[in-house]
Amino acid sequence: MLIGAVEAGGTKFVCGIGNEKGEVLDRISFPTEQPEKTLGQVIAYFRDKQVEAIGVGSFGPINIDKASPQYGYVTTTPKPGWANYPVLAELKKALNVPFGWDTDVNAAALGEATWGAAKGLDSCLYYTFGTGVGVGVFAEGNMVHGLVHPEGGHVLTRRHPNDTYAGKCPFHGDCLEGMAAGPGIEERWGVKASELPVDHPAWEMEAFYIGQALASAILLLSPKKIILGGGVMHQLQLFPLIREQVRSNLKGYLVSAALEAGGIDEYIVPPGLGDNAGLSGSIALGLRAYQESQS
Ligand code: ADP
Ligand code: ZN
Repeated sequence: MLIGAVEAGGTKFVCGIGNEKGEVLDRISFPTEQPEKTLGQVIAYFRDKQVEAIGVGSFGPINIDKASPQYGYVTTTPKPGWANYPVLAELKKALNVPFGWDTDVNAAALGEATWGAAKGLDSCLYYTFGTGVGVGVFAEGNMVHGLVHPEGGHVLTRRHPNDTYAGKCPFHGDCLEGMAAGPGIEERWGVKASELPVDHPAWEMEAFYIGQALASAILLLSPKKIILGGGVMHQLQLFPLIREQVRSNLKGYLVSAALEAGGIDEYIVPPGLGDNAGLSGSIALGLRAYQESQS
C-alpha cells in the first residue's frame, strides 16, 4: 500500500511516498513560497502517484480542531501569504483521498512511536531544536491536541547564571526557543552553531536550558521516551550534558530505572528514524487516516 506524506515546513516542503512499514520509497523537496505555488507543486507531485491516503505534518500554528470551521488552516504565522490559509481544504479539493493533518512535531512523535525510537510505546515526546523549538506530544496512543496544540518550545526557563543574552523569541524574548533555538545560539555567540567547537561553553549552556524544559515535561506528562531532533541536535555531545541536567533538576524525586545513570541513555535519545523522522511521521499520519476511513 502506498501512503503519501507531506512535511510542510516554513523553509521547505518535503513530499514523499511511503508504505505501511514506514519505508520512504520516494521524496522530493522544494522551497516554501506563496501557498498557491507551493501547494500547486504538492498537488502536481501526487497527481499520478496512486496513494491511498496522505498525511500532512505542518509548521504552525495550525488549526487541528475538527469541529472548527478553520480546521486545516495555518493560523497566525508571520510567513507572508500563509496566515489564515486553508492548506488542508486546498489539498482536499485537488486530491480525493483521506487526509491526516497535524503539527510537524506531533507527526514526528507518531512516526517515532510507530517505527522509531519509541516503537511499541504508548507515549513519547518529540522535540525539535532548529530554527525554532517545537514539541510533539504522543500520550496514551494518540497525539495530544487540547485547546490549540502543545507549544512546548515556548515554555519559560530560568536563566543560566553566566548568560546575559536577551533571547530571540519575538513573543517572549527569553523563553526556551528564544534561548536555545539555532538563531539564538548564533546571535549570542556571533558564529554559526555548526561552527562552535564541541567543547565550547555554548553547549553546556544549551544543555542547561534544554535540561530544564525536559525535567518540567517529565514531571508534567511522564512520557516513556523523549526524542530530541532538529539541526542543533546534530551536536551529539549535547546528549550526555542534557541527561546530566535532567537528573540534576529532578534530584532523585521520580523513581524509575529510565532516570537512573545508565537508564537515561536509553530514555533521552536521538530520532530512531534519523533525518526521515518528519517524513515518516507524515506517512504514519496518512496511514492512520487510511485506517480511520476503513473503519
Ligand atoms: P528547521 O528548524 O528550519 O526545520 P533545522 O532543524 O535543520 O531546520 O534547523 C536549522 C538550524 O539548526 C540552523 O539555523 C542552525 O542554527 C542549526 N543547525 C543546523 N545544523 C547544525 C549543526 N550541525 N550544529 C548545530 N546547529 C546546527
Ligand atoms: Zn517564545
